[in-house]
Amino acid sequence: MRILVTNDDGINATGIGVLERIARQFSEDVWVCAPSEEQSGAGHSLTLSRPVRLRKLGEKRFAVSGTPTDSVMMGLRKAMPSPPDIILSGVNRGANLGDDVTYSGTVSAAMEGTLAGIRSVAFSQVYAKEGVGEKVSFTAAEHWGPKALAPLIDMEFAPRSFVNINFPPLEPGAVKGIRVVRQGFHDYNRGSVVEGIDPRGFRYFWFGLDGIEHTPGHETDLEAIQDGFVSVTPLQLDLTHDASLAALAARYT
Ligand code: MN
Repeated sequence: MRILVTNDDGINATGIGVLERIARQFSEDVWVCAPSEEQSGAGHSLTLSRPVRLRKLGEKRFAVSGTPTDSVMMGLRKAMPSPPDIILSGVNRGANLGDDVTYSGTVSAAMEGTLAGIRSVAFSQVYAKEGVGEKVSFTAAEHWGPKALAPLIDMEFAPRSFVNINFPPLEPGAVKGIRVVRQGFHDYNRGSVVEGIDPRGFRYFWFGLDGIEHTPGHETDLEAIQDGFVSVTPLQLDLTHDASLAALAARYT
């Protein structure tokens, strides 16, 4: 079993170390190819306007001067001699729940792997408070990661689908278990836009994460995390809203 590990917080982030340790419980053939710098919020962006560098940091270990999507592409096409059996992305520092997955570099790396026809899983550690910075605890991911991955490691995924896993912001002993749930959605309240003055006297804006309201709904990832469970959600690349096809077609006749 060959595993490719990537992330969006950068190759030196705490969470990628956590995911490497999880991966090594399933295989000795673990490769790492990840962005050299933090790329959170990069979504599925692909670097087209400048060259990308691939730096070999060690055996089976590469840094890419680009996005998570670039890293998966470079891992598959240049760094690895043959494709992995599975791609693991994360463990992200922070939640990737509900419709926030569309901003996520972590989830997008899994999307890129899925586009390449490789089974892919995204992992994220939710944290409770703003401002904890480097002190985010990954203990829930560290402990529950292997339990969440084990059922998937040799499972056949439906074509063009992948899996998104989030760990609640709890000590491992307080986590209630694992729930398979659908993707939830947030109310559109994107939190604060913090305004300040830079050292040269110019106004800047910085998107905050506080105050995002959400509607957990039943059987969603948001609800599972709120209830203290690990959430496991199957996602798909096809964003077509099937129920609207007929109504939309009727408008064009
Ligand atoms: Mn991130």
